[in-house]
Amino acid sequence: MKSSSVDQIIIEFLQQNRQHLASHQIYEQIRLRLPAVNRSTVYRSLERLVNQGKISVSDIGTGALVYELVGLGRHHHLVCHECHHIIEISDDDVAPLFSKIEQESQFQMLTNHLILYGVCPVCQSKDEK
Ligand SMILES: [Zn+2]
Ligand SMILES: [Zn+2]
Repeated sequence: MKSSSVDQIIIEFLQQNRQHLASHQIYEQIRLRLPAVNRSTVYRSLERLVNQGKISVSDIGTGALVYELVGLGRHHHLVCHECHHIIEISDDDVAPLFSKIEQESQFQMLTNHLILYGVCPVCQSKDEK
């Protein structure tokens, strides 16, 4: 198994699943397609793709780093503090706030992937019971 084809399969998989996935989740999915692949090959592949700038890695505070394809467009996330559910929010909601802050502070913002923590509707209703 050439490592370059593992890279390709990871990219195809992330293209089909436009979401953030932890390395162990990616490994489990890649193993379904390539039963002979081993964990360290997948992890090395992820590291290589991050170094090449093809995928990005974020710490969303769930205890595991998550990977996603670069070039999905600027977007942000709401992360449930309790169940770790991730909701994607559009940059359209955030961009006006960013430009206002930039104008007022003369600060050029580099952050392009906001992670906001909260409690999702499901967990809120659990707490009420
Ligand atoms: Zn993201
Ligand atoms: Zn939740």
